[in-house]
Parts: sequence; structure tokens; C-alpha cells
Amino acid sequence: MCGIVGYVGKRDAVPVLVEGLHRLEYRGYDSAGLAVVHRGRLAVTKTAGRVQDLRDKLKTNTKATLGIGHTRWATHGEPNEVNAHPHTDTAGRIAVVHNGIIENAEQLRAQLQGSGVRLVSDTDTEALAHMIAAELAAAEAGDGPAAPGDLEDAVIRTLRRVEGAYGLVVLDIKNPDQLVVARNGSPIVLGLGENEMFVASDVSALVRYTRQVIYLEDGEVAKIRATDYRTTTLAGQDASAKIPMTVDADDDDYELGPYQDYMRKEIHEQPDALRRALRGRLDDRFATARLGGINLDARELRSIRCVKFLGCGSAYYAGQMGATVIEELARIPADAEPASEFRYRSPVVDPDTLYVAVSQSGETIDTLMAVQELKRKGGQVMGAVNVVGSAIGRECGRGIFLHAGPEVAVASTKALTNMAVSFALLGLLLGRVRDLSAASGHRVVTGLRALPEQVNRILAAEEDIATIAGRFAHAEHMFFIGRVRGWPVAREGAQKLKEISYVHAEAYQAGELKHGPLALIAADMPSVVIVPSDDLVAKNISTIEQIKARGGPVIAVTSTDIPEGLADAVIRVPRAEPELEPILLNVPLQILAYHAAAKLGRDIDKPRNLAKSVTVE
Ligand code: GLU
Repeated sequence: MCGIVGYVGKRDAVPVLVEGLHRLEYRGYDSAGLAVVHRGRLAVTKTAGRVQDLRDKLKTNTKATLGIGHTRWATHGEPNEVNAHPHTDTAGRIAVVHNGIIENAEQLRAQLQGSGVRLVSDTDTEALAHMIAAELAAAEAGDGPAAPGDLEDAVIRTLRRVEGAYGLVVLDIKNPDQLVVARNGSPIVLGLGENEMFVASDVSALVRYTRQVIYLEDGEVAKIRATDYRTTTLAGQDASAKIPMTVDADDDDYELGPYQDYMRKEIHEQPDALRRALRGRLDDRFATARLGGINLDARELRSIRCVKFLGCGSAYYAGQMGATVIEELARIPADAEPASEFRYRSPVVDPDTLYVAVSQSGETIDTLMAVQELKRKGGQVMGAVNVVGSAIGRECGRGIFLHAGPEVAVASTKALTNMAVSFALLGLLLGRVRDLSAASGHRVVTGLRALPEQVNRILAAEEDIATIAGRFAHAEHMFFIGRVRGWPVAREGAQKLKEISYVHAEAYQAGELKHGPLALIAADMPSVVIVPSDDLVAKNISTIEQIKARGGPVIAVTSTDIPEGLADAVIRVPRAEPELEPILLNVPLQILAYHAAAKLGRDIDKPRNLAKSVTVE
């Protein structure tokens, strides 16, 4: 959510910062700005528009080698130019960019106003700039030599009075060789270059310049200069033993190539992403899965009595797909819950349950907090994340890496597919230490191996699906109906449609229709009905008939044969092993949502009000 970039080195900082902000645009934002030190003074440029507007506004002669930039996702004060970051103190000495929320901002702002400071913005962030400046002024007061105060020290003193979540970067014109950065609940990563140093809220802003990175932990502060960096903690403990990691993405992963937007590119990357998720994980000899990262031996796997997935948005629906496949393959109870609910409801934590924290970015704050709550209560938790080195991955210390490659579009496609396939692998592993026979294990292994090619076949039908999307895109409301295996697929399909096309979509279990929602069925209310090849085909066909009898148009998404002429449109997917079908049935729904949104002229990669990784509450 929102983005931070910072640079200290020898290059012209402005283009580095603007380029970094462009890379972060996909995360969602409403305004942008940057500050550099130019001839000993702070030069701040902000816009209530896009990064491109910021670029247009910048003066070409602002040469600088130190600077910070930000894309804001407003939490305190409307998204206008004044509230855009960076924020400065009154004298224009300090500039701060901040992701997150300062919870005691009101109190801090009142204290500052009480001491005569005039606040110019409505943000929580501005208070930090004034507080840091005041700390520096206090350190510099007295008759000693006029050396500048220690910026890191001033930031630490300030942050000790701050409650809330932040990733932040601070610049001081009197300490023009350094930036001070801090993290508490909002990601910050340092990029190490040759005689230059970068900082960002997401590696995508850095990979063009360096792949050597260091992730800050919560409570850590770093001082970075062109040639060195130092990490400590707010509490004053040593945090210097950090080993740089090499990011496994490069700049090309973030290029659009022949595609007009990232969502379509990522939909088409799914066969490759699936191959990566399966590579080295299928064990033909024992007809099971290999998941080394979960660190559980057969005995430990057997002692798991229940599996619970925790995630938000699509990660939650992927968890629901996971729960279904685990119950089927391993015959142990499994379910999924939104992490945002779990963390607040004082959950009963069962020591024999395996909790799986699911998050593409690995930084989703609600999921991270759920993990911390679980750990506090002695729960066994593992992560399922797509970003190596992310907070949830580190906090869990074990898990399944999703291998989807960088996902840029806000609406998740390939990461969700890889979540679902990873949970099928987990189900296979848990099943094979229990009652799943070797023959059934082989059947699932073979089925998993076939998935990438089957997804390819669905992608080949994109044009037909686009035509169907065009026929229904102007509906104001849509239903997505499924039961059992089809139910999480319907939920995720409705989510995808609403988030990128803004068409109101609701998912219902097929059996629930007649208990209420059937009242809404009418000619202007299309329903997408998911019909897997399972024992419930006849039931699902009668659901379609009930909708048709009330004049509702139906789009059937199915891997089986349904009576000719029954539905108004039929999208067929290849038949997979029954437990794996949800993975395939979901793909046409992505394409349907994509083309409905395209037809309506939506900004598909940057849906309104949404952000890619939700790192604020
Ligand atoms: N809370 C800050 C503001 O509203 C930062 C928001 C963000 O994370 O971009 O300005």
C-alpha cells in the first residue's frame, strides 16, 4: 500500500526517485511527491495526481544526489497536494515520507500546536517532521560547536513517542550524506549498490539498480549512506548482524512486454507460474508431495488434527479452496477465515491445528497480526507467501513459497492460482501420511502435472470468453453461484469482477438461493453458475433451471456436459482430477472479469480505492 523510495549516492537522484515511484504505482495511491537536497536547500515537489504529473512538474535543473519520494494512500486528510508527502518542518530542514498510520497523531499534533508550531497539512505524518526538527534543535542548543545534531538519534527519540504503524524515511539538509529509515508494521527494504544506497517499501522499486537487499524488521532503524549502512533498534539493541539477500526477480519481470496491462500479462503467465510451483515438489515414487519448507516430518504431519487457513481477500478464498481440497484428500477438518476477523475475535487456538497464513505480498497487516496472535498463544503456524523475505514469511519461519513471480496488478491471478495448487500439494502430503492410497496419490500427482497445459487450453479460449464478457458487462449486478468445490470459486469470481469492473457481484451457495436471493433473479441480473464434474452436476443443473424459470440469464462455467440450450452462455474448461477442478474453473472467471472491466473502460491494474498489499488497517 502506498510507496516509498529513497536514494543516496552519486547519481542524479530525481530520475532514480521518479523511476522508483513509477514502479510502485501498481500498489495503488492517490497523490505523490518527492524531496531532494539541491544546493543545500530542500526542494519539494508534490502533486494530487499521478507520478507522471509529478514528473511533468519537476524542474529540470534540480540536481541532487540525496532524496526521498512517496506515493500516498490517504488515511489522514484528503488526497490533495498539501497532504501529499514528503512533509517538512517549518524551517524546511527535515523531510519525511511515511507509510502507515500514527495512532496518537491527534495528541502529538495538539502538543506541537500548543508549543506554537503551525501545522499546514491534515496528516499524521507532518507531526513527525516537526518533532524530529525539535529533537535536533534541542541537541544542537548550547554553546558547543555548531555541528549538526545526530539525525538517527533524533529519529529514535521521536519514534519512542509515536504509537502506530510506519515505514518511514527521513532526510535532513544538515546531514546531507545520509537518510534515516525506520520500520514498524510497514515494509522497508534497503538496496545495496556500489557506492550508492537505495531504500524502498517494495523491492520492485530497486531491482533495476540492485538485487542485493536487506529487509528491516519491526522496531528497527537504519542509517544509510552511499558507502555504508548501520542498523539498530528503537530500544537501542544491536541489530547489525544482517545478511543481504539476493532478490530472485529482475527488472524484466516488471516489464509489460506485449501486454497492455499487468493483469492480462499475469493471467497468461499462469501455466509457467504453475510449473514453478510444482517443480521438484511431485514425488512419483511415493505418490506424494515434497514440501521441504514446512519442516514437518511424517509423525508431526500425522499429529495435525485440523488445518485452518487465514488470509484476506483473494488469499482468504484461496484458503477456502485449500480447506476443501485438504478435507477431501486428507480427511481432516479444514476451514478458512479472514485474518482480519481472526485477529480481533480472541480466537481459541488449538495446539493440534496447523494454521496457514496466506498472503501474496507477505506483508498484509491483518494476516501478520493474526500470525503474531497465534504465536503468542502457542499455535503452529506456517506461511504461504509469494515474496521471499517478507514479514509473514520471516515471522512464520516456515511454509510454502508460492513461486508465482512478481505480481503487479492489484487483482490477484497467478498468485491465487499458485496458492490453490500449493494447498493441493499440502493436501496430498497430509493425505499420504493418512489414508490416501498410493493409487489415489498417483492419480493426484498426474492431475497436478497436467494443470499447466490445461490452463493453456483455457487461455486459448480467451476470445470466446471476452465475447461473453462483452454481452454481460453492462449488467449492474451479477450473481456467482457454486456449491462445495464450486463455492470458493464463485466467491473468488465475484470478488474479481467487483474489484476491477465495479459491477456489483455477490456469491451464493447454490443451495442458499431459494432461501432468499432468488427474489432478486430477473432478466437484468445474470448469474454465473459453476458446474464442476462431481456428484452434484444434477443439483447444479436444477439450480440453473430455477434461475432460468425466473427469467435470469445464466453463464455456466463447467468441465462437464450440460444440456444444450440450458444456459445462455457456456464456458468450458478441461476436465481435471475432481479435487483439482477449482484451480481450473477459476481461470475463466479471471478472464471474464478482465474483459468486462476492459469493456467498461476501467483502469484494470489500478482499481479505484484499492491497493496491492494492504499494510495499513
Ligand atoms: N497516514 C499517512 C497519510 O495519510 C500515510 C498514508 C500512506 O501510507 O500513504 O498521509
